[in-house]
Amino acid sequence: MKSAAWTLVFAVALVASLALRAWLASRQVRHVARHRDAVPAPFRDTVAPAAHRKAADYTLARIRLGQWQMAFGAVTLLGWTLFGGLDLLNGALWRAVGPRWGGLPYEVALFAAVFAIEGLLHLPFDLYATFGVEARFGFNRMTWKLWLADAVKGLVLAVVIGLPLVALVLWIMAASGALWWLWAWAAWAAFNLIALVVYPTLIAPLFNRFVPLADKSLEERVRALMARAGFAAKGLFVMDGSRRSAHGNAYFTGFGAARRVVFFDTLLARLAPAEVEAVLAHELGHFKLGHIVRRIAVMLGAALALSAAFGYLAGQSWFYTGLGVRPALGGPNNAVALILLMFVAPVIGSFVSPLFAGLSRRHEFEADAWAARHADGQALASALLKLHEDNASTLTPDPVYARFYYSHPPAVERLAALRLGWSPTPGIAS
Ligand SMILES: [Zn+2]
Repeated sequence: MKSAAWTLVFAVALVASLALRAWLASRQVRHVARHRDAVPAPFRDTVAPAAHRKAADYTLARIRLGQWQMAFGAVTLLGWTLFGGLDLLNGALWRAVGPRWGGLPYEVALFAAVFAIEGLLHLPFDLYATFGVEARFGFNRMTWKLWLADAVKGLVLAVVIGLPLVALVLWIMAASGALWWLWAWAAWAAFNLIALVVYPTLIAPLFNRFVPLADKSLEERVRALMARAGFAAKGLFVMDGSRRSAHGNAYFTGFGAARRVVFFDTLLARLAPAEVEAVLAHELGHFKLGHIVRRIAVMLGAALALSAAFGYLAGQSWFYTGLGVRPALGGPNNAVALILLMFVAPVIGSFVSPLFAGLSRRHEFEADAWAARHADGQALASALLKLHEDNASTLTPDPVYARFYYSHPPAVERLAALRLGWSPTPGIAS
């Protein structure tokens, strides 16, 4: 391919993805605003009009912020690529430290510099999301002090864990011949699998406090459920999610010996014991039905396909020049290639993400059905409704928007499926 043709392909893909996402957002805005003042019929008895309006306003506020973020992201992407930002930084950094530091350290430094700049550029949006939108709707519990502490810890982790991983991948790219992309993928996959084991026991406790579940009757309930389902977990923990946000959740993490159940304290405060049990049964369903393993397999498979494509692209000079970067003649290009890949992949990703969202929604229906068989389906329905209200999720999303983005089916569909008993509804769960 000629470099100009590649520029055109990239520009067209970027414009198409922006247009698609803007169109979807405008649909969602119109749909939610139109239904703001009327609670949908199935929820008239259970959802207060004020809560319904709050959910609509919250949804609209988040979409508006998302639109700004999307526009800004497109501008910075163009700035890095076609307008020469990465080329400029690459050249300046190489002249400053390249010959002295040598290939790999210089490449890691370039990587770190790009991600530090990206992080700083997007910082105002993150701050506004937490201290603006979330605070305005009463969800934010984060203090500035806690925010700063999180940021410092995140930075330290990025340096201690992220940079060595980047260095490893760059080293593999340089050292392992034509099939480097396969080895790089293997290293990345191994890192992710290790993280699954290490995260719950070593990383998560850096950010939250985990205490064993103290409520004995709830613990008995939960243990009985797990015994019925033939599921072993290392422990039941309560996490102080309320330190940061009023949103509630529950999850399983880890594998094998590190497997544990984690409840957000916000969830326990809000749900009745039967509802907690039902929510946990839903999460158990994901495990028992093999969703977790399949999700990981899909992720690894997609990454392998991306790596293979990248293995080809990184060797083509038009891949660089078409995106506004001159390949360094004297120095190494692997870091530049990797950075360009990370810039391009999300543009392509916005066209394939609906496939993953569709798969995820199918799994949610299946986990709901599993929960209804092993716990109280009615309790799950009422828990879902409470969680929806606590998260101010809209009950009236635009159907097309939901099909494109939603990893969880809209509440109306989940409750309908629970009430009817589950059957695969091809129109929704595909
Ligand atoms: Zn689920």
